Amino acid sequence: MPELPEVETIVRGLRKTLAGKKIKDVNVIFPGIVKQNSRHFKKNVEKSKIIRVRRRGKFILVDLSNETTILAHLGMTGSFLLRKPSAALNKHDHLVLKLDKTQKELIYRDLRKFGKIKSFGTSLEEKLPELKKLGPEPLNISPSDFVNLFTKRKGRIKSALLNQQIFAGLGNIYTDESLFEAKIHPLQKIDRLNPRALETLRQTIQKVLKKAIKAGGSSIENYYNVDGEIGSFQLQHKVYGREGLPCKRCGIRIKRIKISQRSSYFCPRCQVLHN
Ligand SMILES: [Zn+2]
Repeated sequence: MPELPEVETIVRGLRKTLAGKKIKDVNVIFPGIVKQNSRHFKKNVEKSKIIRVRRRGKFILVDLSNETTILAHLGMTGSFLLRKPSAALNKHDHLVLKLDKTQKELIYRDLRKFGKIKSFGTSLEEKLPELKKLGPEPLNISPSDFVNLFTKRKGRIKSALLNQQIFAGLGNIYTDESLFEAKIHPLQKIDRLNPRALETLRQTIQKVLKKAIKAGGSSIENYYNVDGEIGSFQLQHKVYGREGLPCKRCGIRIKRIKISQRSSYFCPRCQVLHN
């Protein structure tokens, strides 16, 4: 599933090409992806100019000149591709935006169809159910705000980091990688982490995310940037997807456990669980 670094990579790619371009025509091929009446979506979006492309958590936001914003979530396997209008459609292409004054069109492709796209009035952003409950952004959170997220909170650290209402943008890959770098066990109880450990974790998360953005994200399954290229951060993973392989720090085997039905990878020697 695309997480913050993958979504950020796509946003940067879209920003470069789309800013200032007019949407000439919208073709909804699979209406299930558009979470509102397709005709309304077309009407809201067509003939307007793209002003800005931005990210909030794992959401992509495209602001248009007519006070409308397009909201997109890539689900498990969604991606946006910029390509020549003459190229044949793929069977997983669900939406096509034709752009004025460019040799490219924007395609939304999604193998498993868990993604969603809709439009809303830009002024209503703070009331939008998808966005209003999101926690703060990891890349610019201050030390005190980060500590406050966990004050009086019960439960395990990994589950809290995955909860988008506490902290927006992390998924399985980047929580596992950050917890490894910070030497914190994924099942560590939050109330056992002191402010110093939390500050290490905050800095580590930011470092891991920035490195991943620089590498264009992790391509595990079906993740591509807008030019159809894969990311390379998967080559730098230290624990995620490395069950049974030697820890890059201490050499013992990486373990996998299930936390909330999802795999968690960690080193049992570097990440000791404190009771
Ligand atoms: Zn280790």
